[in-house]
Amino acid sequence: MAENDAAAYDPENIFAKILKGEIPCHKLYEDDDTLAFLDIMPRTEGHALVITKEPAADLFGITPEGLGKLMAVVQTLAPKIKQAVGADGVLIQQFNGAAAGQTVFHLHVHIIPRKDGFPMRP
Ligand code: IMP
Repeated sequence: MAENDAAAYDPENIFAKILKGEIPCHKLYEDDDTLAFLDIMPRTEGHALVITKEPAADLFGITPEGLGKLMAVVQTLAPKIKQAVGADGVLIQQFNGAAAGQTVFHLHVHIIPRKDGFPMRP
């Protein structure tokens, strides 16, 4: 874990439970360091999340190496999802802290495909 203002990590958060297999997910990709699955409340078709397996609450709780692995998966997966749903662009979004809109305190990156003329759900 990185020490740069890292938030406390709750090992019983919902994504930790997905990693432990206690809660199901629609898995898109998995490797030794990351898991990607569809968001349960998609803001657009194909809305996916990529999470770390390392127990970090947010961006500041992971090492640069761990963050690099996470973002490499985002970089690989996003164009595939974009193509699969016929999107025109992809929004990559990541929240840190409740005040910033974070609701699940396990580091994750949103991949949100966007189509011209189609609004995104809030
Ligand atoms: P954030 O913390 O605001 O970045 O958002 C957390 C995201 O996790 C939201 O988009 C939720 O819809 C999503 N989410 C919460 N629980 C589950 C789940 O059990 N499976 C998949 N996605 C989930």
